[in-house]
Amino acid sequence: MAETEKKADCIFCRIVAGEIPSTKVFEDEVSYAFRDINPQAPTHILIVPKTHIESCAVLGEENEALVGKIFSNIAKIAKEEKLSGGFRVISNSGDDAGQTVHHLHFHILGGKEMGEGLVP
Ligand code: AMP
Ligand code: ZN
Repeated sequence: MAETEKKADCIFCRIVAGEIPSTKVFEDEVSYAFRDINPQAPTHILIVPKTHIESCAVLGEENEALVGKIFSNIAKIAKEEKLSGGFRVISNSGDDAGQTVHHLHFHILGGKEMGEGLVP
């Protein structure tokens, strides 16, 4: 199954549960957004589902409403954060992509010009 309530050893599950402190930016019934602890841009926010899902690689039809909601929340957050000049959304999925936290998350990066390249 792609989605479980909570994984005890998962940092992001623990952040969602309030067991590890975070700087909250946004929350609704299905998702939680907070500032990245090691920002790669002036604005660097992570949005995660409240339920534990490993990565994009395991998403299926049952997650479509959730992922759609996360993306409309991303648009809300970008407005709130005044990223009118543009922003980038990244989701690392698996080892080749350098995923370090194995709980689905979308990086929202902005506040500086990032150029056209996708891979550094
Ligand atoms: P990824 O490499 O795509 O798996 O990204 C994981 C991200 O989580 C990195 O950008 C980390 O800086 C960030 N991160 C790890 N632990 C925390 C934490 N406790 N609070 C906020 N961000 C975190
Ligand atoms: Zn988790």
